[in-house]
Amino acid sequence: MFKRTSSGSAESGRQGDGRTGWNPLTLAFGAALWIAVLCNGPLWSALRALPETATSRGALFVGGFAVMITAATGALLALLAWRWTIKPAIALFLISAALGAHFMSTYGVVIDPSMMTNVLQTDPREVRDLLSLRLFAHVALLAALPIALLWRLPLQRRRFAAQLGRNLAGFVIAWLVLLGLVFVLFADLSATMRNHRSMRYLINPVNSFYALGVLVRQTSAKPAGPPAPIGIGAQLQARPAGALPPLLMLVVGETARADHFALNGYARPTNPELAKLGVVSFADVTSCGTNTAASLPCMFSHLGKRGFESRSGEHENLLDLVQRAGMAVLWLDNQAGCKGLCDRVPHAFAGEPAPGLAAMPASLCNDGECLDEALLVGLDARLAALPAAARERGVLIVLHQIGSHGPAYAKRSPPDRKPFQPECTTNVLQQCDRSALVNAYDNSIAYTDHVLARSIGWLGEHGKAYAPMLLYVSDHGESLGENNLYLHGLPYAMAPREQTHVPMIAWLAPGTSTSGLSADCLQRERSKPLSHDNLFHSALGVLGIRASEYVATLDAFAPCRAP
Ligand SMILES: [Zn+2]
Repeated sequence: MFKRTSSGSAESGRQGDGRTGWNPLTLAFGAALWIAVLCNGPLWSALRALPETATSRGALFVGGFAVMITAATGALLALLAWRWTIKPAIALFLISAALGAHFMSTYGVVIDPSMMTNVLQTDPREVRDLLSLRLFAHVALLAALPIALLWRLPLQRRRFAAQLGRNLAGFVIAWLVLLGLVFVLFADLSATMRNHRSMRYLINPVNSFYALGVLVRQTSAKPAGPPAPIGIGAQLQARPAGALPPLLMLVVGETARADHFALNGYARPTNPELAKLGVVSFADVTSCGTNTAASLPCMFSHLGKRGFESRSGEHENLLDLVQRAGMAVLWLDNQAGCKGLCDRVPHAFAGEPAPGLAAMPASLCNDGECLDEALLVGLDARLAALPAAARERGVLIVLHQIGSHGPAYAKRSPPDRKPFQPECTTNVLQQCDRSALVNAYDNSIAYTDHVLARSIGWLGEHGKAYAPMLLYVSDHGESLGENNLYLHGLPYAMAPREQTHVPMIAWLAPGTSTSGLSADCLQRERSKPLSHDNLFHSALGVLGIRASEYVATLDAFAPCRAP
């Protein structure tokens, strides 16, 4: 029956007494040691870099911490140390740990619930940008190799009660070791964890499991059903006789940091086109979150950052309110989607051909991925497809850019629009010369400058039918190697300013006064501190919508509006 005759005798020998081979508990702690020592490189380098650990006492602390992580991981695996579960369990731990180690060491990120939200909401395009040889090397060495060895190991067969006794003993001993070390190292441990809060998000792979657990709890705690409506009874302010309906184009930028905009004083010419168009660049704007999944819903909420983050249920957003007030709304996406914001309003992906178009131009869209100018192709047809009666009251168009989405910055600008050379073309950012990395990033900002200028051109063409205005604001910033940090998504409290200081740019049609706004006044107000909290109320102000959710003091433009 069994064809594996060559090893048949050894196999039957093992099956004879059931005690030869490896006990699952031994494998559990062996794997825990591997994970603690080898898969926690980012944690050990971060700890080693602290001045506190330079002394011999510090070295002892680091050693003790390694034993604690081994004990904690071992205790978890001890619960799964059964003949049929231990190998899959270890494989899962190893793969999670290898992926975590790769992203933490390659991009300087930490894995917390908000980063995990980002991971779970990613799309194939984003994943492709993150794939690299380095990723495969990490997974091969840290996970695939030990898993291959593990799978060859024969396991003991023990009675259930005997294995249960062993596992419980292993679990209890691991906890005793852990608690004993907490007691002995308490002074160093509490000081280090308090002063360097990010450290706990580096403990691998427990950080990923913890983040997933938090998300599952949050999701299950959320009441099902549609979000609570807002803007009930919202009204349009009467327009003066002869005034045109407002057309607000809200461009939601991606990963653009304010200090790389020439309009904000950056030394390189990243805004050659906008500089000629009389735009107002608000210099001190702070984002709600440090990643798209956190910022985007917060930006469109009436609650503001604090209210949004402590909300007990879901609400509708700016788009629902504007539509409820009777205006036309369109969300056009060139990224991973609108995170549920546009579910109840007309929406489309930039890569989907506009009405009347057979396909998007290949120079803009390739392989399911589009450059941001695709947002403008066929936009007239998309606008015309919105209900005519609603358009006569006013229009809100949201363009959600791919912007400067990393790490493949070089893919965010077309070949003929790369003024800054040479450009970093790898997605393993540390392998690039820092100046080449910044060149690739600045090229994406210069391309955004071009896209915004063309958007303003499009708005200008509609100046006879509408009173147009453009408002651009990015969802969060980006780290470009400062303090060895890359990308974005650090927990807000510890995020550097590069990740939270975002550009915000307004354009008013010259001659017309959209909603009675004065561009000169906005220019004088450009340095006042603003945040994503202002977006909802400022948009309602521009569109002339009055709703109970509107707060005039949060309307950034209110001081510049003629009474
Ligand atoms: Zn983003």
